Amino acid sequence: MRIDLHTHSTASDGTDTPAELVRKAAAAGLDVVALTDHDTTRGHAEAVAALPEGLTLVTGAELSCRIDGVSMHMLAYLFDPEEPALLAERELVRDDRVPRARGMIEKLNALGVPVTWEQVARIAGDGSVGRPHVASALVELDVVPTVGDAFTKDWLADGGRAYVEKHETDPFEAIRLIKGAGGVAVFAHPAAVKRGRTVPESTIAELAAAGLDGIEVDHMDHDADTRTRLRGIAGELDLLVTGSSDYHGSRKTCVLGEYTTDPEVYGEITRRAFGAFPVPGAGGA
Ligand code: AMP
Ligand code: ZN
Ligand code: FE
Ligand code: FE
Repeated sequence: MRIDLHTHSTASDGTDTPAELVRKAAAAGLDVVALTDHDTTRGHAEAVAALPEGLTLVTGAELSCRIDGVSMHMLAYLFDPEEPALLAERELVRDDRVPRARGMIEKLNALGVPVTWEQVARIAGDGSVGRPHVASALVELDVVPTVGDAFTKDWLADGGRAYVEKHETDPFEAIRLIKGAGGVAVFAHPAAVKRGRTVPESTIAELAAAGLDGIEVDHMDHDADTRTRLRGIAGELDLLVTGSSDYHGSRKTCVLGEYTTDPEVYGEITRRAFGAFPVPGAGGA
């Protein structure tokens, strides 16, 4: 069984529609794929409708969090998408992305870059707007050669010249909300140092004590030593270990199924979920 528990579609900053994403997941030989767009579940319905025979969809989202000034991401799986408290928090974070993107555009204009909101809005479409969309605009304008090159202190990296913070949820609150909505909480790429500051091990321990279910260990932004260290932490704290591609279509270099999650861990995630349940492919749609 091949299980990839972290992907993005055009519902946030991926480049494949949810329907394309599930078709590609099946073609890549995956048995289970989670759709985890940033701060939104709006891609789920389309993914379910297009689900190929033999592929199971884990509904999810990747929630933007911040603690002690450090941004971090919390993967939420199999929660009830209509549970009001978590829904309200997702909407708060997602809606704040719009004025925040406009703020980054203003900063870029002040730096002499002629990017416009119309351009970024066209790239984002109806997806939850984020820095990768602004980065794609910078590529279009020949300011940087690739999306990744926009994530430097010169441009959009945390604390960079054109960076603007958005509202982000306290991770303890996020865990409480995810559990309250029947879901399972996994700390995404907890040691992805190339994305900026990361939280200390003591914070992971505190989150574990607060009900965190697992940590994402096998991820392209973790080198071999980091993975070994994280596996050790997970063992000490009795946390589940997941692996995933964090696929973003053509906006990132990783491929579907590049890293995967152990079937036993997947089974435990589904056992712990009391909200929604995985959706097996109906086929043909
Ligand atoms: P946002 O949620 O709008 O702050 O954007 C965060 C997203 O930008 C992450 O989920 C990644 O997809 C992407 N990102 C963050 N850091 C980098 C980086 N160093 N290189 C490429 N993409 C990045
Ligand atoms: Zn993303
Ligand atoms: Fe992330
Ligand atoms: Fe992600």
